[in-house]
Amino acid sequence: MTEDLKDIKNHFPILNQFVNDRPLVYLDNAATTQKPISVIQAEEKYYKTINSNVHRGIHTLSQLATVEMEESRKCVQQFLNAKKNYEIIFTKGTTDSINLVASGIEPLIKEGDEIIISNLEHHSNIVPWQFLAERKNLKLNVIPVDDNGELIMDEYDRLLSNKTKIVAVNHISNALGVVNPIEDIIIKAHKVGAYVLIDGAQAVSHRKVDVQALNADFYVFSAHKLYGPTGVGVLYGKEEILESMKPYQGGGEMIKEVTFEKTTYADLPFKFEAGTPNIAGNIVLKNAIDFVHTIGFKSIVRHEDDIMKYAKENLSQIDNIIIYAQNAQHTSGAISFNLNFENIHSSDVGFILDKQGIAVRTGHHCAQPIMKRFGIKGTIRASFAIYTTKEDIDQLVKGIYLAQKMLK
Ligand code: PMP
Repeated sequence: MTEDLKDIKNHFPILNQFVNDRPLVYLDNAATTQKPISVIQAEEKYYKTINSNVHRGIHTLSQLATVEMEESRKCVQQFLNAKKNYEIIFTKGTTDSINLVASGIEPLIKEGDEIIISNLEHHSNIVPWQFLAERKNLKLNVIPVDDNGELIMDEYDRLLSNKTKIVAVNHISNALGVVNPIEDIIIKAHKVGAYVLIDGAQAVSHRKVDVQALNADFYVFSAHKLYGPTGVGVLYGKEEILESMKPYQGGGEMIKEVTFEKTTYADLPFKFEAGTPNIAGNIVLKNAIDFVHTIGFKSIVRHEDDIMKYAKENLSQIDNIIIYAQNAQHTSGAISFNLNFENIHSSDVGFILDKQGIAVRTGHHCAQPIMKRFGIKGTIRASFAIYTTKEDIDQLVKGIYLAQKMLK
């Protein structure tokens, strides 16, 4: 571990504990990351000092909370390098952000248009588009993957046409850890006039994202996978597209004027933020981003590449292991595998690992179509964060040997 990350675990109180009488080895970071003490303390401070409702009050606490939430929005703007702070919409999470777009974009879609997603998507980047396709009678096309778990880009080229209105793909796959060629995907989609939504849920904690350099129309993520709180998400959208979309939900905060005859909507970003938001969560997302910045993406990428290489090298030594996307050109954050014995379910292995204090995810990872593509029901997934060490990987490997012995 490099010097700058040596003491990183000390920032995460939850990691310093025993689970099932063993020191916790937390390798389920793709599901959610742990929270540094700075985020935990900031949330406590908010409730102890300025808790009140935002954008409504004339009183001091309300104004302080509003200022802090808007500061956090600016922080997210800088984090993604968005042009305007009002291009950042606070949501409940990635799922909520995608549903917002799939609903709000309706006025820009007409019957017969087409949507492209990929075989690698999380259910939250599939189902909202199916809803839209049903409502507007659209065709949903799927970019297939090869045996390495990589998107077949020739097939993508073939699916694109001037009927394509939306391309929605993930930046990094949660199921296999494959990094998708989103730069290329975006350029090609724009050539046919389609909008592109990038699901960055698995990317934002692992690499610097620049929405302007990418020229993404929408980029979405969840705070809880970025060392921040649950129940908070971000939708970045280009101003001109957000302006022409319809509001997702109606209610307080998103209106300019309400009469029984007609309602007019608030300006961006509030048009898409109906109701009282997760104020504390939105505010402390800034603390999570600050934490990531104090380490810096250069160190994060260097460390996580090192961990990924070490994990692949060591896991591949295990007899009868199948590692998915092992030969994919770029993987990040997660490694998915199975033990190749008859009648062994991934959850059996997960159960034995848990008894050794090792937390991994097993099952379909909310990505059933990619499981089907590989002819499996699920995988065992170990996923990494800035605090993952080579010792954690050693424990995982030991745990798998034990599981093999017990299950054979
Ligand atoms: N997309 C991807 C790639 C994910 O990994 C996840 C979470 N596993 C989601 C979407 C959904 O995120 P959330 O549950 O935070 O809305």
